[in-house]
Amino acid sequence: MDLGIHGKRALVCAGSKGLGLGCAEALAAAGVDLVLNARGADALDSAAAQLRSDHGVNVRTVACDVTTPEGQEQVIEAAQGVDILVTNAGGPPPGMWSDWDRDDFIKALDANMLTPITFMKALLPGMMDKGWGRVVNITSQSVRAPIAVLGLSNAARTGLTGYVAGTARQVAPKGVTINNLLPGIHATDRADALDGGVAAQQGISLDEARASRAETIPARRYGTRQEFGAACAFLCSQHAGFIVGQNILLDGGATNLTM
Ligand code: NAP
Repeated sequence: MDLGIHGKRALVCAGSKGLGLGCAEALAAAGVDLVLNARGADALDSAAAQLRSDHGVNVRTVACDVTTPEGQEQVIEAAQGVDILVTNAGGPPPGMWSDWDRDDFIKALDANMLTPITFMKALLPGMMDKGWGRVVNITSQSVRAPIAVLGLSNAARTGLTGYVAGTARQVAPKGVTINNLLPGIHATDRADALDGGVAAQQGISLDEARASRAETIPARRYGTRQEFGAACAFLCSQHAGFIVGQNILLDGGATNLTM
């Protein structure tokens, strides 16, 4: 399917690996030029080089922490005038409800709620002026059904979801859509970190932890970054202009819901 976005320009935050990289790859395959961000310059440069050589698109890299004001300023400067925004950042650490103090909550809210809001506030006006734009926020299945050990993530991402629900309806008249993609478990470094924690806690191997998690998923496997990226690129396509303010689960059926 031709996504109809060849020649457009996208900012993909936290995109040198994992789900962000999956989005960058799928957008590049559709002919979209990229501003790509991550903290580590080496992985970022090698992801950018691969995208250029695989898809012939322009890729500008900005190596910085996207959750800091200085990082946000650099990325926003590089991304002025983009047509597409994919927000993403690392997820907060797991723990118990009683572990977290105010600073932990502020960090999580900064990374997973206020950072995407900052990018939307900075880049939506340019999209609205052009009468076309797409925003996809990478959130989590924890927005639909809580993951108890990820209380910081549950809280911050639900706050972002509330903001998007209203904002998406305010910008839709200008041809701009905002939607959230809610990953369940996907085979990335983040999943390895979570499974590593389970393995250490239960005294089992990483493979055993993975296998036992996969058994709980109706699809009986982890998602891939390519599947995730394809869904993102579709939401950014010309065909998705009537999808507004939605929260789309990509979880192999793991979240047990009728609707
Ligand atoms: P990942 O494989 O660990 O990749 C994270 C990417 O983000 C890397 O490119 C990393 O590069 C970059 N990054 C992290 N923090 C950053 C920051 N502060 N500023 C700029 N770049 C940053 O993670 P993932 O699995 O793709 O997860 C992406 C998001 O989805 C996370 O918020 C995660 O919690 C959420 N999620 C993931 C899953 C899953 O199963 N994978 C499920 C639900 C939710 P650098 O380290 O070099 O910065």
